[in-house]
Amino acid sequence: MEKSSKKILILGGGFGGMYCAKKLECLMAKRKNIDAEIILVSRQNFFVFTPMLPQVVSGMIESNHVVVPLRQVLKNTKFYEAEVASIDVKKRKVNLWVENNNNNHNDDSHGENGSPLSDLTLDYDHLVISLGSDTNFPKSSDFAHVVFTLKNLKDALLLRNHIIDMLERADIESDLDKRRQMLNFVIVGGGLSGVETAAELNAFFHKVVKYYPNLKAKFSELPPHVTIIQSRDRILPELNSKLATDTLQKMNQDGISIILNTKVIDVGKGFVRTVTKEGEQSTIPANTVIWTVGISPNPLTASIACEKMTSGRPVVDSFLHVKGCENVWAVGDSAYIMDEISGEPFPATAQHALREAEVAAENIVNSLEKNNGLRKFKYGRDAQMALIGSKSAIANIAGINLSGFLIWCIWRVVYLKKLPMFKKRLRVALDWIIDIFFDPDLTHLRGLKEDRKFENHTKHIESR
Ligand SMILES: Cc1cc2nc3c(=O)[nH]c(=O)nc-3n(C[C@H](O)[C@H](O)[C@H](O)COP(=O)(O)OP(=O)(O)OC[C@H]3O[C@@H](n4cnc5c(N)ncnc54)[C@H](O)[C@@H]3O)c2cc1C
Repeated sequence: MEKSSKKILILGGGFGGMYCAKKLECLMAKRKNIDAEIILVSRQNFFVFTPMLPQVVSGMIESNHVVVPLRQVLKNTKFYEAEVASIDVKKRKVNLWVENNNNNHNDDSHGENGSPLSDLTLDYDHLVISLGSDTNFPKSSDFAHVVFTLKNLKDALLLRNHIIDMLERADIESDLDKRRQMLNFVIVGGGLSGVETAAELNAFFHKVVKYYPNLKAKFSELPPHVTIIQSRDRILPELNSKLATDTLQKMNQDGISIILNTKVIDVGKGFVRTVTKEGEQSTIPANTVIWTVGISPNPLTASIACEKMTSGRPVVDSFLHVKGCENVWAVGDSAYIMDEISGEPFPATAQHALREAEVAAENIVNSLEKNNGLRKFKYGRDAQMALIGSKSAIANIAGINLSGFLIWCIWRVVYLKKLPMFKKRLRVALDWIIDIFFDPDLTHLRGLKEDRKFENHTKHIESR
């Protein structure tokens, strides 16, 4: 076969992007007749294993252990640590912002490290969009800046630090109302990540409260308290209702409050305002609100000239090819893929992103070879599992509902196996062993605060 030098450009280094590059490397090592360059662009030079983020917040796992340096996993991929600024599918070009020391950008924008930003344009023969999703806030709400999110490592570190800050302050606060605000931790959303985060936080408080004498003395009167607010009539919509009901009872027994059929309508300094389905409003005093509901597509995908849902998610056919764009593929949370069997779109989960990435990689290689057909993306559901606290987990495996300590052990084995790099798996396993014998670290890193320079830059560019 005639040799061709093609460029496969992957945007995003998460579950979709990293596993697509990995699969491409593997396929190209086997099919020597393909001459193509794999290029990956991502905001950070590491992959984040999101299912373990709640355990980073609780301090059970060290933050560095749930991230994997992309260059060390993808040895035959050219990597750019850069911000994707725009995608032009007609000209087959992607514009990036990179940080450097020569400011040739036409304004004074700076990257996260304070270095000037400059433009860089990459062209491609095949493009894989795997830019993930953003957190979705209700339209016309203006509380995005006062709530915490849990999407990436930075979110986890900020949240962890804030929680320890609240415990430190509450311990020396004599005003009971202020102390209540500091010790109420409200999680908006009763899906998988909301439930797992609530369970982790609750377990964390039980372990560390003994180090705060004033909280301990008044523990029965005003303990740190975790509340989940869920708009639906049940938690865990990803799992069946029997498991969800059992989980709700178990979490209530552990001291977590779960408020169903209720929406958050406002969040301000020290309070959360909610409304029930019947229209009854109430206010919860809380300095900590963690927003885990709703995902909206990455804003960049909304600007691509292709077939899209009203949400802005590109519509992808069953071969993972973006409809209306030649040689553009989309995987993971960025893509809207219809499950032909259920008639519903595939959910935005890591399990799906990973498998979609592998199918997209195969289809790209087959397209380059031209003599192979494309493979359809089909998904036989893996077991659905969730951690629910007190060394307990729930699962639905082959249609059977299971829960308890054994499932908690299985969760750990399954997720440990999924974590890339042996070194990281070993470190997480050690963290878990250490957690059996020692209490979590309570170091409070003062001065750690959010830095949204890239986002400011994006807004500035949009407004020009
Ligand atoms: C706390 C939490 C727990 C979860 N637990 C589970 C679980 O137990 N099981 C499960 O199946 N799923 C879980 N998920 C969902 C899962 O993480 C996502 O579905 C999955 O990460 C989607 O993969 P992706 O590649 O589409 O996006 P991501 O993994 O989010 O990757 C997107 C990548 O694109 C990069 N990027 C974005 N915009 C730009 C830009 N403009 N320029 C450059 N780079 C950019 C990001 O930095 C990131 O590297 C969880 C999610 C969270 C937040």
